[in-house]
Amino acid sequence: MPGTALTPGAAGRRTTDRSAVVIGGGIGGLAAAVGLHRIGWRVTVLERAPEPRESGAGISLLTNAQRALDRIGVGDAVRAKAAFMAPGGEGLRLVSGRRLQPPADPAFLRERGLSLAVLPRPALHGALRDALPDGALRTGADVTGVVDLGDAAAAVYRTPEGERTERGDVVIAADGAFSRIRSALWPQVPPPVYSGHSVWRGIAEGIDSAAEPGGSTWGRGLEFGRMPLGGMRVYWFAVANTPEGRRFPDEHAEVRRRFGSWHQPIPALIAATPADRVLRHDVFELVQPLPSYVSGRVAVLGDAAHAMTSDLGQGACQALEDAAVLCAVLAAEDDVPRALAGYDEQRRPRSQSIAEASRRMGEFKLTERRWRLLRRNARMRRTSPRESRQGLATVGDWHPPVLPASAPAPAPAPAPAPAPAPASASVPRGEPR
Ligand SMILES: Cc1cc2nc3c(=O)[nH]c(=O)nc-3n(C[C@H](O)[C@H](O)[C@H](O)COP(=O)(O)OP(=O)(O)OC[C@H]3O[C@@H](n4cnc5c(N)ncnc54)[C@H](O)[C@@H]3O)c2cc1C
Repeated sequence: MPGTALTPGAAGRRTTDRSAVVIGGGIGGLAAAVGLHRIGWRVTVLERAPEPRESGAGISLLTNAQRALDRIGVGDAVRAKAAFMAPGGEGLRLVSGRRLQPPADPAFLRERGLSLAVLPRPALHGALRDALPDGALRTGADVTGVVDLGDAAAAVYRTPEGERTERGDVVIAADGAFSRIRSALWPQVPPPVYSGHSVWRGIAEGIDSAAEPGGSTWGRGLEFGRMPLGGMRVYWFAVANTPEGRRFPDEHAEVRRRFGSWHQPIPALIAATPADRVLRHDVFELVQPLPSYVSGRVAVLGDAAHAMTSDLGQGACQALEDAAVLCAVLAAEDDVPRALAGYDEQRRPRSQSIAEASRRMGEFKLTERRWRLLRRNARMRRTSPRESRQGLATVGDWHPPVLPASAPAPAPAPAPAPAPAPASASVPRGEPR
């Protein structure tokens, strides 16, 4: 329902008596909590980690995600920490530096308001956390299951002090790609599988970000992407097909070995990156789409719902879209199951089709066979400006539903005394990774 003005509690009920339990304090869970707080719900975020996470290199947020952040009230705070580039930057190149695709049409980008905000991950997490009321985030809370209580739902969690439950009108499972809650609710859906590729990430220091337009370079089963991060920092990522779990004694040296002879500024960026700060992650994706994002009063969100490859840079963007839509439907409809049905209806087709497009993009760009490489390059050269514009608009030119302006609810009460888990708690089948 993009563009429709919504009001809190369509049936006239005040929303401040509503409460939500969010499982997972990642980007998706924090965003959902911030949005619900904004529409007057009491929120509790249960995060397994003992401390808020501060690690990670950069993250890019396309306009769709920036609009979702605006809708939950933190767009300006996030933009203040970001550098901006045109989506795709200066275009796509081959290892030699030869151009495969030109930059996106600036007039089109202006007309649609399309841009890529790039910022350090900890800065995004921080901006979301800062928008939560005091006490809303409980760390060291490892959720083991959820319980449907009919007119409410509850999360059961372990703390160093013992087992507890937290009850709410809705429970939002934003517990990441290896979501315990998803596997408990949809045991027939296999866990995420290794995509076949792995990503190194780093931040080059002492390089003028203003002189870096950003861009991507494709090799044989390899990709290198670069993005301005503001000041004298440039964020980069390097993708390669590798066996699952493969580790190298010196990850920085491995990046240099694979990408160090590529066109400038790639070798310079690698050289300007502190060797001990190069991150490496295997990429996993949920191959079998979930049949629903909702079970009773529990909604799954973010990677828990649609873990996708990083090939379109849309994982977190889609989690933010989820959060904005979830808040809008809950603000518009007092009946929680009906609201959640609206969430499922609006979010599942779009996020699953973007996940599918991301997988196809990864297979296409990371091909290694010579004849496929030739075909890939020819295909990219042939792509018409119209096709490029269409692809970009489909993903990036998304508008969230309108959220009502509503007074924030008071901070939640301190953590309750330990309570025994209800007998009906659904216990997960395996440890998330
Ligand atoms: C290399 C790489 C680069 C990427 N780059 C981009 C990008 O540029 N742009 C973009 O949009 N996306 C990007 N993504 C994807 C993005 O990182 C994810 O989609 C996003 O972080 C998902 O957020 P989330 O909140 O759903 O899950 P997570 O970030 O995984 O958060 C889940 C949280 O739940 C907690 N948790 C798990 N289990 C429990 C439990 N049982 N109890 C309590 N807490 C629990 C975890 O500790 C964690 O804090 C990239 C991904 C990779 C791998």
